[in-house]
Amino acid sequence: MTEIKRITCGTVNCYLLESKNKAVLVDTGGAGYEEKVWAACAGKDIRLLILTHGHIDHIQNAAYLAQRASIPIAIHQKDLELIQDQFSQPLASTGIFGRALKIASERKMQKEHIQTFTPEIFLSEGDTLEPFGIQASVLELPGHTEGSIGLDVDGQAVIVGDALMHMLRPGMASIYTDRRKLRESAEKITALGERMVYFGHGTPTTNRDWACKR
Ligand SMILES: [Zn+2]
Ligand SMILES: [Zn+2]
Repeated sequence: MTEIKRITCGTVNCYLLESKNKAVLVDTGGAGYEEKVWAACAGKDIRLLILTHGHIDHIQNAAYLAQRASIPIAIHQKDLELIQDQFSQPLASTGIFGRALKIASERKMQKEHIQTFTPEIFLSEGDTLEPFGIQASVLELPGHTEGSIGLDVDGQAVIVGDALMHMLRPGMASIYTDRRKLRESAEKITALGERMVYFGHGTPTTNRDWACKR
């Protein structure tokens, strides 16, 4: 049984997956939240830091936390370039809220600094976290970014990164690099069936039909 602990960092969530005495950290939040995340990790035997994708709000504390916990960093290879250049995958948006979110995100990407780090593990579809003591497998969920991933945890919960967001209401991300792939990823999450869905932004809800037909 894996316990999922949500750590809120302003509007962004990180998650601590715990089983018996082992743990894996998913995402890191943005600058200013590093001590809060580290405090949530205190006393846990953390084995790995997984980044759901390369956007600044999820990776900004990666260097700090990986160093403090002495753990490797894992990401999908397709988001590697995004770590160095936030604009290597241009964003498009849907609706007025999406446009506002895109402007706010790009402003943050332009202004703020990401401390350099080097992922040592590249994750892809079906990879299991068993070597790190956690019953979860990797889901490729491209669309929000090319290398977006999620985690199917214990067959009971799914961490979706930013493929889905729960901001105004839960649904497909309103900013993305590829809308067609994003819709396919949303359908893939729906097809998992009964799960609690844990978002990169917002509170968890139950799984449902996510794919927007527009
Ligand atoms: Zn994102
Ligand atoms: Zn995000």
